Amino acid sequence: ALVVVTGANGFIAQHCVAALLEEGYHVVGTVRSAGKVDGVKTSHQRHPRLDVVVIEDITNAQSYLDVLGPLSPVAVLHLAAPFHYNATNFERDMMIPAVQGSTATLEAAAQIKSIRRIIHTNSFASIYDAAAGPAPGKTYTAQDWSPLTYEDGVHADNAPTAYRASKTAAEKAAWKFMESRPLGFDLVSLCPGMVFGPFLPEAKPKSIAGVNTSNLLVWAAVSAGRDNALPPTRGPVWVDVRDVADAHVKALRVVEAGGGRYLLASGIYCNQELADVSRRLFPKYGDRIPIGEPGKRESHTHFGVSTAETDKVLGVKWRNLEQSLGELLPQLFEVERGQ
Ligand code: NDP
Repeated sequence: ALVVVTGANGFIAQHCVAALLEEGYHVVGTVRSAGKVDGVKTSHQRHPRLDVVVIEDITNAQSYLDVLGPLSPVAVLHLAAPFHYNATNFERDMMIPAVQGSTATLEAAAQIKSIRRIIHTNSFASIYDAAAGPAPGKTYTAQDWSPLTYEDGVHADNAPTAYRASKTAAEKAAWKFMESRPLGFDLVSLCPGMVFGPFLPEAKPKSIAGVNTSNLLVWAAVSAGRDNALPPTRGPVWVDVRDVADAHVKALRVVEAGGGRYLLASGIYCNQELADVSRRLFPKYGDRIPIGEPGKRESHTHFGVSTAETDKVLGVKWRNLEQSLGELLPQLFEVERGQ
């Protein structure tokens, strides 16, 4: 069976492609420029069951249709969407690619008769109510919705709010599309917390500037210098990238997952915990990892998360911080050294 992965050069998508190939699928990855094709192929040792195609504009349903239609895919994993905090025009740089990228994928899928399922990569951002602030005793599940609207994203006064609004609006638009008419496919929404963990060995960024947004949060927390302050925690829900990839494959396979929304989370974290775990695992980086206030857990009392439904339906096992940072940190320090 042939599965499409959009934004195939992205951090999470690379792991999804690897997991799908491992499971025996044929994979067609999309990237937005020809210069990115070879990098994706190399990341997977030019696997014979991997093709990479260019779709320049992810908001254009016709281009998906032209390129993907003739391939008769059975499913699409839609991961291509902006995740960064550098947007200057929130509507142009965040809201439009996120929302129209999702609806264009669905519009094209509605015309590609072979497609049975769309896996939509959403986020804890579309679950979390950031404006509610710390809510001790509150346990977020996939039943919860962020209250942010499209307009909140356009007029946001900071980039993280615009990003959260983009994920919320994109997911809402996708569910709305699913109501619109009889369709030959169903939708599964996956909502990961901050995704940490190693890069595929062949897909390590060339410099720290090229590190994806979520792993960059780890880098900021563990490299600030022994006696310097830790940056404030953003998140504060996290999950390992390999478990996210596993959830995507399971969401494809488990028939009864169709029509569902699943929170992907290992647990709550704070930057002090990232530093404490990293210091314990890697004494050799001790001069870089801030000491801060060891053992202090500022965000763990803010709220909780429950993945009970995900565990039941998808049966994902969640790696812990030791497993995630244990592999990521040496790679990040190699990237800094240009190795
Ligand atoms: P990356 O930044 O590593 O990858 C993003 C992918 O989307 C890249 O292929 C990128 O292409 C593509 N993309 C971004 N903006 C556009 C655009 N305007 N037009 C076309 N393609 C675009 O991010 P992640 O792997 O971290 O994220 C993948 C998905 O997972 C996103 O939907 C993100 O919102 C979601 N997610 C991520 C989390 C995380 O912590 N990492 C947490 C929760 C959800 P290019 O390289 O050319 O820019």
